[in-house]
Amino acid sequence: MWLLVLKKLKTQDVMSRWCAGNANLNLLCCSLCSRGPDSHEHLFFECDVAKQVWFGVRGKAGMETIHNTWTDIFEYLVGITKSNMAEHIIAKLVVAATAYFIWEERNRRLFTDRRRHKDQLVEIVLSTVRMKLHTMRFRNSIHTTRVMQEWSLPRGLLVADDDSG
Ligand SMILES: [Zn+2]
Repeated sequence: MWLLVLKKLKTQDVMSRWCAGNANLNLLCCSLCSRGPDSHEHLFFECDVAKQVWFGVRGKAGMETIHNTWTDIFEYLVGITKSNMAEHIIAKLVVAATAYFIWEERNRRLFTDRRRHKDQLVEIVLSTVRMKLHTMRFRNSIHTTRVMQEWSLPRGLLVADDDSG
């Protein structure tokens, strides 16, 4: 995640080379859509394929209204960095998991002939976050109840509001 924030992931624009029409330069194109450049801005999440994955998960993160550019998403994350609200913790997890699996898929398609459909990527992101949520505990509130229903989490993950009773 920090490598992405610092834009240090080794996309090919970092090496100062861009996608071109020339067939010999296909490697420099985004391996997800084969149209845009292999750059951070494109991958997160302007690329048609990456964008469809992001659009498939952002509702579960309560981020439908955030524009799908990394600048806007990053700005939103900065604003909720210190929040412990369940919906904000989930938003951070969803962005991190989406970035991770988009990056992994980009590498997979670049270096192997295996590829996953966008729907599979959406499912992997959601199941990874759901698995992580099962290891956490939540304080009971109206917001938390809504989030737990959204993610089909068991009420057993709720902690008591106090220890008195
Ligand atoms: Zn692309």
